Amino acid sequence: MFTSISGRSVLVTGGTKGIGKGIAAAFAAQGAQVAITGRHAGLGEETAAELTAIGGGPVSYLHGDVADPDSCAEVVAQTQDRHGGALDVVCANAGVFPAAPLAEMTPAELDEVLSINLKGTFYVVQSALPALAASGHGRVIVTSSITGPVTGFSGWTAYGASKAGQLGFLKSAALELAKQKITVNAIMPGNIATEGLADMGAEYIAGMEAAIPLGHLGSVADIAAAALFFASDEAGYITGQTLVVDGGQIIPESLEAMG
Ligand code: NAP
Repeated sequence: MFTSISGRSVLVTGGTKGIGKGIAAAFAAQGAQVAITGRHAGLGEETAAELTAIGGGPVSYLHGDVADPDSCAEVVAQTQDRHGGALDVVCANAGVFPAAPLAEMTPAELDEVLSINLKGTFYVVQSALPALAASGHGRVIVTSSITGPVTGFSGWTAYGASKAGQLGFLKSAALELAKQKITVNAIMPGNIATEGLADMGAEYIAGMEAAIPLGHLGSVADIAAAALFFASDEAGYITGQTLVVDGGQIIPESLEAMG
């Protein structure tokens, strides 16, 4: 259906598990060369080996913390080294979602969420700019959320602010980078079944399922499909935009509204 992206060089931050792993798997299945990052080397190497064994493009793990600009620069350089000097697609996906009531949140807790989710997006994209410009079809794909930009959840003021902040970044970045033919778009997932979400507990998940018109949590493949679309040549005229992938969760005004 779409022009092949086989051989493209792709970097997925936070690609060792969850949504990022799903995105990495989807790009590798299309024959792209994929680098995934995270802060736990054991899991990262395991995931890279697992995805490479499926066949398709190679997947390698690079140790990196998106909250550290030097680490982002190093990860980008290593990705280029492994992929013949190129970097075509950056998926700024790494994120954390610890809950902290506003009344009790410490400055350190706030800093952690903003540093990883929001500043981490800046750092990895900034590091990748020369390579993305050289690509001729550079793509930045941000994993934002419905939480923050559209909806709220008690305990997630910092998380929501970080995810809404990513969308503020996206609009102006799209303008700045358009001259270099780099597009910047974001996916806004609803509730997606990942290791991170499983940590929220069964009660949270049951409550969410009841609030989703399509009746079930999304899969990492649902988000990966949106990432593949934004990375495609056919999406080359789309920039500064968002795509909600949430099973209809943001539509109903109440549970009764779902009929
Ligand atoms: P997850 O299963 O917890 O995976 C998070 C990934 O990010 C891991 O690979 C983790 O590896 C990495 N990571 C965390 N902090 C990092 C850092 N400082 N530097 C580099 N990597 C880091 O989470 P997920 O559910 O897949 O979420 C992924 C993204 O989707 C996040 O941005 C999240 O906000 C967004 N999202 C998720 C959902 C959902 O329902 N799951 C909904 C909306 C948006 P290490 O821990 O080893 O660093």
